[in-house]
Amino acid sequence: MSELEVLVELQELDTRLSQLTHRSKTLPEYEQLATLQAEDRELKTSFGKIEVELSTLRQSQNDREVEIQQLEDKIAKATSSLYSGDMTSPKEAAVLQGEIDSLSKRQSILEDQIIELMEQIEPYATEETRISTARSNCQEAITVIEGEIAAALSEVESERESVAEEKRGVETRAGSNLVKLYEDNRKRMGDHTAVGRLVGTSCGACFLEIAAVEIDRIRRLPSDQPSECPECGALVVR
Ligand SMILES: [Zn+2]
Repeated sequence: MSELEVLVELQELDTRLSQLTHRSKTLPEYEQLATLQAEDRELKTSFGKIEVELSTLRQSQNDREVEIQQLEDKIAKATSSLYSGDMTSPKEAAVLQGEIDSLSKRQSILEDQIIELMEQIEPYATEETRISTARSNCQEAITVIEGEIAAALSEVESERESVAEEKRGVETRAGSNLVKLYEDNRKRMGDHTAVGRLVGTSCGACFLEIAAVEIDRIRRLPSDQPSECPECGALVVR
């Protein structure tokens, strides 16, 4: 076995590290989280609109209730004057009675308006409760998913640590010259696999068949001399 075999081991460990990075960036839970967050934003917007409507309607109801209270006070006062015996003339009593009648009429109009307002408020209030419940369910689901993401990431992280430790062991065994050769080659190859085993007549990095004449040339080299795949440029270890 070639002493360059250790380069393949380093490559395999780095491939595993890349896979772990990829896994941590593409957890299926991220999509679920995004869906839930979008739903939550929609519910928040709907809730805001409902609140504006409800606030206007409730304010109208409140204004009328305040006015009714004032009318009731005035009516009570006028009624008490009317029956207190302070009236000096029937005319004065009639004026006061007229005033009470007109205040009562206004009160009854306001009461009818309040009933109408309450009928308008009802469906909004039902919707307010529905959205509020949906939102708290949605937020609960978000918390659950966030927990699952944290657990998955921590699993990836501990796997990464164990692979990194294994890699340090292989690097020690490889020695600084081969580690440098490997690292330089990885830099040169960028995102591509930097080392591949020769499998039959194929490159283990790009899986392409290497021309017979090149295979001959590679096989004639001393086994500890690195050679490049003519297809992808990776170091070929045989
Ligand atoms: Zn290749």
